[in-house]
Amino acid sequence: MQLESTLTCPSCGHRSVETMPTDACLFFYDCKGCRMRLKPLAGDCCVFCSYGSVPCPPVQSNDSCCVPRSAQAGGAGPKPAGPKFSRAPGGSGFL
Ligand SMILES: [Zn+2]
Repeated sequence: MQLESTLTCPSCGHRSVETMPTDACLFFYDCKGCRMRLKPLAGDCCVFCSYGSVPCPPVQSNDSCCVPRSAQAGGAGPKPAGPKFSRAPGGSGFL
C-alpha cells in the first residue's frame, strides 16, 4: 500500500508529496502554492482521491471508507426450493 500521494492543485498546478493518514480521510487541504483550500470532488471521499496521484489507503484496500457502500447486491431472502405440489402420492379422487 502506498502512503505517499502527490497532490496537484487544480488552481495553480502546484504539486506536493503528502503522506496520507491511514485511519482518517483528509477532507481539506490547503495548497502550499496558492493557499487555495482544496475539497474533494463529488463522489470522492478525500482530496487524495480527487487530486492525488494515489487514492487514499481505505480506497486502496477496498474498504468503504466514508463513502456509503452503494453497490450492495440485494437478495430477496430465501426462496422455497421448488413449487409445491398438492397432489397426494398415489391418491385417487375421493370427493
Ligand atoms: Zn494551488
